[in-house]
Amino acid sequence: MSATQDAIAAAEAHSAHTYHPLPVVVATAEGAWMTDVEGRRYLDLLAGYSALNFGHGNRRLIDAAKAQLDRVTLTSRAFHHDRFAAFCRELAEFCGMETVLPMNTGAEAVETAVKTARKWGYRVKGVPDGAARIVVAAGNFHGRTTTIVSFSTDPEARDAYGPYTPGFDVVPYGDLAALEAALTDETVAVLLEPIQGEAGVLVPPPGYLAGVRRVTRERGVLFVADEIQSGLGRTGRTFACDHEGVVPDVYVLGKALGGGVVPVSAVVSGADVLGVHRPGEHGSTFGGNPLACAVALEVLAMLRTGEYQRRAAELGEHLHRELGLLVGGGAVREVRGRGLWAGVDLDPAVGTGRQVSERLMERGVLVKDTHGSTIRLAPPLMVSKEDLDWGLERLREVLAGS
Ligand code: PLP
Repeated sequence: MSATQDAIAAAEAHSAHTYHPLPVVVATAEGAWMTDVEGRRYLDLLAGYSALNFGHGNRRLIDAAKAQLDRVTLTSRAFHHDRFAAFCRELAEFCGMETVLPMNTGAEAVETAVKTARKWGYRVKGVPDGAARIVVAAGNFHGRTTTIVSFSTDPEARDAYGPYTPGFDVVPYGDLAALEAALTDETVAVLLEPIQGEAGVLVPPPGYLAGVRRVTRERGVLFVADEIQSGLGRTGRTFACDHEGVVPDVYVLGKALGGGVVPVSAVVSGADVLGVHRPGEHGSTFGGNPLACAVALEVLAMLRTGEYQRRAAELGEHLHRELGLLVGGGAVREVRGRGLWAGVDLDPAVGTGRQVSERLMERGVLVKDTHGSTIRLAPPLMVSKEDLDWGLERLREVLAGS
């Protein structure tokens, strides 16, 4: 057996089968490229589901992590540590907000936002205890916890994990009238992805996010934007909400906040919203740990240069122009997305998303399929135009069946 087959067989034998990875076993990575255990190189057009916006092994991030590893890595929140204040202040400022509640994974940050919105509803809005409702969108993906899958509309994510958490109202994504009609006196928040990533990079109709902002403000409901995948430069702006000049009440951030080095997530809001929590009411052992803060501070420094947003905008325009040329050619039905982020709907005649991903892998390009016939492209934002073009050429070859 090859080293690849060995590693996959061992993983299959000793891990729960919650994923169906492509048959590649990565050993090292640098920039936009990964190398497998047999020395083959692959262009990474997934970037850890947008956690690797700054590329693999980014020098600034690795140096920041190494320096922090030698100082202190964990204090728990039982004590203060000397990176915490800077992280919270800089992240709040970066978001144009006041208060930060750090967590680790995206799902934890979404849970934190749900708890925050409910408590805000009871303590500030005056919703009767236990009656709070949160409006979410069909096709959402906010993580894998029991509460979050309770309002998923994806049977794969949800089935057989009940009993489900009540208190959520699901409306069609992109339909402002439906969303407005779902708001009641008990609604405390609207929780949305400004672009739905896992659903296949679905961009809502123009004016939708601005409309959500308007109606939530009018009705005294928090607008919670889950920018875990769409935020931090991916779409060519810092936040996907920026494309409509929208500032939500609450940002939920994750993935790229830890630069693909450590898990770092956070809820960021005005002081009136996160201010509803009191000591002992919510927390996490690792949330806001020194290592996470050190890496995230470097992430913020890189994002403040605007270079990554600029690259995502410029290269993204190029990416979408090139992908647009494939539409109608028989192999591609639709391309969606913004910046360096694209969902490509394939004609089933050329194969499933999985089959096309496997053919791309054989040619040295790594992407991920979603929902049967879609592939997602989300390269690191530091990818060179030459490498991106090389990857697109491989995609054209695969789609042409050559
Ligand atoms: N929210 C969004 C929009 C996501 O895309 C994801 C992950 O893909 C999550 C939440 C969950 O993040 P995590 O996997 O870190 O829990």
